[in-house]
Amino acid sequence: MIVGPSPHVSVDGPVLIIGSTGFIGRFLTEACLDSGRATYLLIRPGLTSHFKATIINSFQEKGAVIVHGSMNDGDLVKKVLRERKIEIVISAVGGSNILDQLNLVDAVKAVETVKRFLPSEFGHDIDRAEPVEPGLTMYMEKRKVRRAIEKAGIPYTYICCNSIAAWPYHDNTHPADVLPPLDLFHIYGDGSVKGTIITTTTACLLLIVNTHFRLAYFVAGTDIGKFTIKSMDDIRTVNKSVHFRPPSNLLNINELASLWEKKIGRTLPRVTITEDDLLHAAREMRIPESIVASFTHDIFIKGCQINFSIEEPEDVDVSSLYADARFRTIDECFNDFVRKVVENPKVFKQASGNNNGIIMPAPNHQEAL
Ligand code: NDP
Repeated sequence: MIVGPSPHVSVDGPVLIIGSTGFIGRFLTEACLDSGRATYLLIRPGLTSHFKATIINSFQEKGAVIVHGSMNDGDLVKKVLRERKIEIVISAVGGSNILDQLNLVDAVKAVETVKRFLPSEFGHDIDRAEPVEPGLTMYMEKRKVRRAIEKAGIPYTYICCNSIAAWPYHDNTHPADVLPPLDLFHIYGDGSVKGTIITTTTACLLLIVNTHFRLAYFVAGTDIGKFTIKSMDDIRTVNKSVHFRPPSNLLNINELASLWEKKIGRTLPRVTITEDDLLHAAREMRIPESIVASFTHDIFIKGCQINFSIEEPEDVDVSSLYADARFRTIDECFNDFVRKVVENPKVFKQASGNNNGIIMPAPNHQEAL
């Protein structure tokens, strides 16, 4: 029987989040708590930084229940799933712990009461994208987790949310935690010249230039959280990949640079990072920087976010599921960075140069809604 406030909601039981103190996990946890769902957080015991302790406290204040333990402890996870009657499990563990999720899959399979499992994905469609190494190894690990879930017959949803809204540094795994450039831009490839598709018909050769290769979808972290939580118990997303492709958030890197220049009121030099530069950075095998370089190559040189179409029945576009829901624009996300610049006098001086052209964004009434 369908229960809950929306006709698309099938369950309303407790949620267990693993990785809630991480970069992506924080957005998911915030959104889950905001949705009013009973939220349990599996947190590894041991030393934690002041930053993480503050995050955990704030989650507790909002009603989260903390369970101390590791997802590698299968007995503990099974006990939590059974005793807390967990219906949805979301994992947001980082790149170095992807295969550890196989323990989680075993535990979820054993208890047989979990209605949906969302493994740690939150990026590209890892069955379609084929980055160079070392990114490929991470995708092969994520693929192994997908296959284990499917083999175990666990209902799943794979979140393919594309890039987080921030400057896409090719050596930073958490770009939204830092400001966009204040000195110069690295422009990948030529930044805007787009791919060429040649299609043949029986009658003629049709040449289409300027198709949209080298574009990326930049999605606000809060929207990654919000739409993941919306889709986690939607009956239309069972056993599907959910793609985040809001048309308003599709930009090439030159457009992104120009937008930031507008915000800080001055232009910055643009230095080209060629395909060879990115491949070289990937081959250096500095982990995690080289993994990010291989993904940057996949996005801005190969066009991995837009070189395929969404195919029913396996895929669903989040914008088509929630047509009335609004995504934050890059413009709004960049306003957040401007606020951070303005709040920090030292950074403000560097950002404004001699022009002092930074304009504090006016409060956006739409955003407040
Ligand atoms: P982080 O490394 O920031 O966080 C990982 C979290 O998992 C931490 O909270 C960590 O806890 C927890 N964790 C790890 N192992 C265990 C365990 N055995 N038991 C319990 N908790 C554990 O991860 P990210 O946010 O960077 O990555 C999450 C996912 O998002 C990945 O799949 C990644 O590929 C993707 N991603 C997507 C991005 C995008 O732009 N689309 C950007 C970055 C990541 P602890 O505090 O104890 O270390």
